[in-house]
Amino acid sequence: MNSPAFIIHEVSGLHEVPEGHPERPDRHRAIISDMGDEFAHWTYHKAPKASHDQLELVHHSAYIEQIFDATSNLADLVPLDADTWAGPHSLETALRAAGGACLAVDLVMQEKAPTAFSAMRPPGHHAEPDRAMGFCLFSSAAIAARHAQTVWGLSRVAVVDFDVHHGNGTQAAFWDDASLIYASSHQMPLYPGTGAAHEQGAHNNIFNLPCAPGTSGTQIIKGWRESLLPAIVDAAPDLVIISAGFDAHIDDPLGGLAMQTADFATLTSDIGACVQQIADATGGCRLISLLEGGYNLDALGQSVCAHLRALEAL
Ligand SMILES: [Zn+2]
Repeated sequence: MNSPAFIIHEVSGLHEVPEGHPERPDRHRAIISDMGDEFAHWTYHKAPKASHDQLELVHHSAYIEQIFDATSNLADLVPLDADTWAGPHSLETALRAAGGACLAVDLVMQEKAPTAFSAMRPPGHHAEPDRAMGFCLFSSAAIAARHAQTVWGLSRVAVVDFDVHHGNGTQAAFWDDASLIYASSHQMPLYPGTGAAHEQGAHNNIFNLPCAPGTSGTQIIKGWRESLLPAIVDAAPDLVIISAGFDAHIDDPLGGLAMQTADFATLTSDIGACVQQIADATGGCRLISLLEGGYNLDALGQSVCAHLRALEAL
């Protein structure tokens, strides 16, 4: 098998935001800088732009039209909601974040890579079918899940999300669809306010593990081992997509959870073992990962590297 795939595009460093905004181009540079030469043997791919048809797998056509109208040919920054901004390169970057997620699916389905990570920003898991939210324009993980079903004929796809924030957008896209499973650990209370344990989807296909501020990495991993991962094994998806947010790190300025850098490696290995268990039982299950949050640049770069090492070791 070939080496794992790393998906990126230089425009990820050009999607500008106002001064002081945490979801900033330096995130892109911090990841590339901390990776150094260590991952030079991975296969690098440029993230392509998502097509209109791919966006429509999740988003309403009126919303897509609205985003294109609001963000095409911009000369300056404009707000899309209270904390989501767009500038001259934002539409292209968001399209490549969604397209990179779909490319990750294609690479593992074609067996060109054993696993794939897209480091494209902005994140996607807060974008709902009909609105931009929380730094997110397009719901990249949900789009990739539906792309896997539409193009590759997969029956069931799961998104597992360890970002400190609840992925309200992914949950909204999956809520009514029994073939799409969403599992999330996140801090509560915290933005966006969704993700209570009783939010279980129309078909018991949503699994939420809210964590009190200060919860340690050990406790969060215990929650994944005892409740979220067994639920994923029961659902037996054909593909697992990680919504890899690193803002549950203890040093993150936006979150109050206490994951250490090494905890992200442990959790990644646990998710990988879960995927292997499903593959052994069903004959096939694949794994990809997509960058979501992470706003302390040192913690972000180091945690992404720990995540990549764990993905490679699976
Ligand atoms: Zn987040």
